[in-house]
Amino acid sequence: MSAATKNIPAWSDEDIEAFRDLARTFLEKECAPNEDRWNEQQHVDREIWNKAGDLGLLCPSIPTEYGGGGGTFAHEAVMAEEQIRAFAPSLGTAVHSTIVAHYILNYGTEEQKHRWLPKLATGELVGAVAMTEPGTGSDLQAVKSRAIRDGDEYVLDGSKTFISNGLLADLVIVVAKTDPDNQAAGISLVVVETADAPGFSRGRVLKKIGQHGQDTAELFFDGVRVPAANLLGGTEGQGFVQLMQQLAQERLVLALGAVASIEKTLEVTLAYTKDRHAFGKPVFNFQNTKFKLAEVATTAKIGRVFIDDCIVKHLAGELDIPTASMAKWWLTQAQCDAADECLQFFGGYGYMAEYPISRIYTDSRIQKIYGGTNEIMKEIISRFL
Ligand SMILES: Cc1cc2nc3c(=O)[nH]c(=O)nc-3n(C[C@H](O)[C@H](O)[C@H](O)COP(=O)(O)OP(=O)(O)OC[C@H]3O[C@@H](n4cnc5c(N)ncnc54)[C@H](O)[C@@H]3O)c2cc1C
Repeated sequence: MSAATKNIPAWSDEDIEAFRDLARTFLEKECAPNEDRWNEQQHVDREIWNKAGDLGLLCPSIPTEYGGGGGTFAHEAVMAEEQIRAFAPSLGTAVHSTIVAHYILNYGTEEQKHRWLPKLATGELVGAVAMTEPGTGSDLQAVKSRAIRDGDEYVLDGSKTFISNGLLADLVIVVAKTDPDNQAAGISLVVVETADAPGFSRGRVLKKIGQHGQDTAELFFDGVRVPAANLLGGTEGQGFVQLMQQLAQERLVLALGAVASIEKTLEVTLAYTKDRHAFGKPVFNFQNTKFKLAEVATTAKIGRVFIDDCIVKHLAGELDIPTASMAKWWLTQAQCDAADECLQFFGGYGYMAEYPISRIYTDSRIQKIYGGTNEIMKEIISRFL
C-alpha cells in the first residue's frame, strides 16, 4: 500500500487511487522538472497536453462514449490535489477538464459532444472559457461582447481578458450577448474553434505576480464568423443559467486546491523549521512557531473535513450553491493566511523565489479573486440567509 492510499478519502476508492498514482507519476516526471522553464516562458509546452491526453489524464470524468475516462468528479479532484502536491500547478487541467469539458457535456447537443469532447480528451484541443472583459468581471450580466445572428452564422465582436489557457487554447467558450438589449437573458455561450476563425487574435500573455507557468491571455474577436451550430446547447439566452449551474463545480475545485495548498504549506514549513537553527535550537522549538503551526495544522484538518464533505455531497448531486461558495471563500482565505504565516518562519529565504514557500505565497493570492471573488461568494451566501 502506498503512502497516499493509507488515508483514502471517503470519496475515493482503489480505482481512483490508482488514477492518483498515475497522475502523480506524470506530474513528478513530466511536469515538475519543467516548471521553472514554464514559469520563464509563461506557459506550458503545447505537447504536454497531448502527453496528458495519451495517459488518460484529461477529461477523466467525461463518459467513455465521448472519449473521456468514464470516471467522476473524484478523478478531477485527485488531479487537482496532485498538482499542488507535486509543485506542478501550471498545466491548466482544471479549466480544460473540470470546466470547459463539462459545459459541453452538460449543455452541448449530441453533435457538439461527439465533435469536441474526444479531442479535448486527447489534448488535440486545449480548452478555455472566456467570461471576463476589460470592463467587467464580477458583473457578468454586463458583458459587452456580442454574437449577432447572420444567416447560418453568428458574428462575434468583443474583447476578453485574464483568460486561462488563452495562449494555447484551440477551443474557447465565449460568453457573449446574442440579445444585447437584455441583461442575463441575453447571454449565450458560443464556442470558437480558434484554428479557423478569421478576426480572432490573441493579445499579450499577461505578466502576473504568481502562477507564472499558467498562461493568462487577452483574446480579441473582431467580426469572427462562427457557425450557428456552435451555439452551446442550440438555444439562445441560456448562457447565464448555464454559467451559474457550472460555477459550483469550479468553486469546489478551487476550494480543494486551497486545502491541498494548506497541507503542502504545513509540510514544507515543518521540515524547514525543524532543520533551521537560531539561538542554538530549531526554529520549530520556539513557542511562537509551535503555536502558529498548531493553528495551521488545525485549519488544515478543518479544511480537509469540510472539503471532503463537499466532494461527497457533490458526487451525490447534493452540493448546494451557498455551501460551494462558503468552501471557496473560507478555504482560499485560509490558504492565503497559512501561506503568509508560514513564509514568516523562513525568514529572508521565504522571500527568495527558489524556495517553494514563496511560490505557494504568490500562487495563492489569486485564489481569493478568480472563480468569483470572495466578496461575491459572501454576497451569494447572504442571499440564502
Ligand atoms: C490569473 C487569472 C486567471 C483568470 N482566469 C479566467 C478565465 O479563465 N476566464 C475568465 O473569464 N476569467 C478569468 N479570470 C478573471 C477573474 O475571474 C476576474 O478577475 C474576477 O471575476 C474579478 O473580476 P474583475 O477583475 O473585473 O474585478 P471587479 O469585478 O472589477 O471587482 C473589483 C473589486 O470589487 C469587488 N466587487 C465587485 N462587485 C462587488 C459586489 N457586488 N459586492 C462587493 N464587492 C464587489 C470585487 O470583489 C473586487 O474586490 C482570471 C483572472 C486571473 C487574475
